[in-house]
Amino acid sequence: MKTFASLAVSLALALAAFAHAQDHSAGKKPLRVLLTFGGHEFQEKEFFAMWDSLPGVTYTKAPLPQSAGLLKPGLEKDYDAIVCYDMNHAITPEQQQAFLALLDRGIGVVMLHHNLASNPDWAAYRDIQGGRWLGAKTEIDGKSYGPSTYSHDEELPIRIADKDHPITKGLSDFVIHDESYGEFYVSPKVHVLLTSHHPKDTGPFAWTNEHGKSRIVYFQAGHDAKAWACPSYQEILVRSIRWTARGE
Ligand SMILES: [Zn+2]
Repeated sequence: MKTFASLAVSLALALAAFAHAQDHSAGKKPLRVLLTFGGHEFQEKEFFAMWDSLPGVTYTKAPLPQSAGLLKPGLEKDYDAIVCYDMNHAITPEQQQAFLALLDRGIGVVMLHHNLASNPDWAAYRDIQGGRWLGAKTEIDGKSYGPSTYSHDEELPIRIADKDHPITKGLSDFVIHDESYGEFYVSPKVHVLLTSHHPKDTGPFAWTNEHGKSRIVYFQAGHDAKAWACPSYQEILVRSIRWTARGE
């Protein structure tokens, strides 16, 4: 049987926990994400279920090319970041200019997995992303790259290349069951956060870049639900959104 004193202590602890939870939810506004997809198949049900479960993130679906008209100046007022999971090939010259103007305003941009092969005929996209998956052997700045390769269902050993960056700080090396990408182009200007040590991977696995007033992250991981279930994947994804949105 509980004494009055122990009941009072229990009640006080419960109230303190409740107040703490209120503070926590009120302290940080959710990050508002515009999530692009289209041009490449993926496990839609599992993908959006993962997005529904991400802490501190709200998102709006933006299928491409239908929603490409949204990517223009003004979007930065309604969204903290764009997360690009598309492999869109159909952006118009007007939409390209609008996207560049949006990056000059400043908005977070996180590019995932097969987005490395998005907009293959738009040279500026390669500079924004700091990388490019190449369908054929290609010369870039006097060096030869590609053709790029891929292989499904590999165990990729990932190392933290920069242990001091807000996206990777405190994280440990991990293994992710995912698709490898080989022989793709990576700009010497990017800042590498993660490296893959799988023989079929190129090496750089996640990096940061800048364009206009915008912070960019590219993260190679995320072919399917096996990769999305990796706790390190979700942690790096959320931190990347927060960092590009300048929420640190
Ligand atoms: Zn894939």
